[in-house]
Amino acid sequence: MTNKVSELEPKALWNYFLDICAIPHGSGNEAGIRSHLLAWAKEHNFKARADETGNVIVYVPASKGLEDKPTVILQGHMDMVCEKESGKDFDFLKDGIEAIIDGPVVTAKGTTLGADDGIGVASAMTAATDETLLHGPLELLFTVEEETGLTGANGLDASLLKGTIMLNLDSEELGYITVGCAGGGSADITLPLNFGESAGGRSFFSVELTGLKGGHSGLDIALQRGNAVVLLARALASLPQDMDLRLAAIGGGDKHNALPRAAKALVAVNGSLSDLNSALAAFTAQVEPELAKGHELKIIAESAAPAALLNGSDSQKVLNLIKALPHGPLATSIDVPGLIQTSNNLAVVRTEERELIIKCSPRSAVDEELCTVLEQIAAIGRLAGAKVATKVNYPGWKPDASSKVLATALKVSEELFGKPFAVAAIHAGLECGILGAKKPGLDKISFGPDLKSPHSPDESVGIESVQKFYLFLKALIAKIAA
Ligand SMILES: [Zn+2]
Repeated sequence: MTNKVSELEPKALWNYFLDICAIPHGSGNEAGIRSHLLAWAKEHNFKARADETGNVIVYVPASKGLEDKPTVILQGHMDMVCEKESGKDFDFLKDGIEAIIDGPVVTAKGTTLGADDGIGVASAMTAATDETLLHGPLELLFTVEEETGLTGANGLDASLLKGTIMLNLDSEELGYITVGCAGGGSADITLPLNFGESAGGRSFFSVELTGLKGGHSGLDIALQRGNAVVLLARALASLPQDMDLRLAAIGGGDKHNALPRAAKALVAVNGSLSDLNSALAAFTAQVEPELAKGHELKIIAESAAPAALLNGSDSQKVLNLIKALPHGPLATSIDVPGLIQTSNNLAVVRTEERELIIKCSPRSAVDEELCTVLEQIAAIGRLAGAKVATKVNYPGWKPDASSKVLATALKVSEELFGKPFAVAAIHAGLECGILGAKKPGLDKISFGPDLKSPHSPDESVGIESVQKFYLFLKALIAKIAA
């Protein structure tokens, strides 16, 4: 065994990867890596160009005699997530990533490695220059700013591509072929609020909900981790009627793509702090069976200073609106058993001076279904008298059981490894969804080596998995041209 990344197999792939590591290439800072890729193409006499968005396309001629075979697009993204351990002295705009071998994996010292998606990019470069690989025409597509909103894929000039088959090299577990992903939308609800209720005999309390796990709003949506804002609204709505609750403020959640973990409200009720806390404790016990193990849900009130109160009907309206909106999985897939097909994350709630703001982020692998959920959210909002703005942000990728490249890939994996790879889909956005919408009929799959903890300083990639991943890529390209 070697202790040098440059001597790992396949050597060409790892050395391309080390070249990429040496050039800072965080999202939005792709100029250096783009010049590097264009220079590399020139050196190999491949035509290449960058489009207006900054994506790079490299045209690799077919091996002799295979010119009339289908053109295959090999696709990866050239940007990486820049995360470092606290205290690590590292400048992602200047310093190169230091890739090292750590037992069975390659990782970086205290920073993200950028194997997501540097290994994908390096493997496409390796295939393009591999003299032992007989292939049809190849188009290498390297996109920008995947990690910060799929910007490169969204802005791609698809007329620059002739390919009818696409292999996306940005998946995270060897042994799986990804055949679908979710599209995403957003619904922004604005409800006008009327303040001015007198406190009467009520006392003021802040009520805080903590202890939920949160997580990714797509990948973790079905794990029963609870939604902090929804649970808080339900807790407040469950208080005994004689407490006669009025709301001054409610809020929770701060990112459209994260499950709200904590929420807070400012309320006035008829009753003591201990009455309120025992009612909240009763609610907490009551929802326990709805939540997966591993949480530390607490809803606790404390005395607070007086504040402007919503009138009675607006207090009820706010709680009812939060309770009525969907949160969680809404449909599962028939094509890929176990896949969440459609969901909504009730992502952000906050009260401002004169209005309540709610942001929802629904996802679906089926574009029509995403629109239906957006309409549902808008309808609920309008029932409450709110304004609702909805938008489809990026399309989904519905699994296609009749995909030819999938059938070929399953066959190739079985020939190489004794059993076919498993078929999977994810409930999150991938570039494939957008690229598929830009090129209708594009037959596509996604796969990759074993990546652990991508987007964190613990990111690593399995050495043996990279070798097998490349072996598979190469055999698949050869089979398509055979
Ligand atoms: Zn990636």
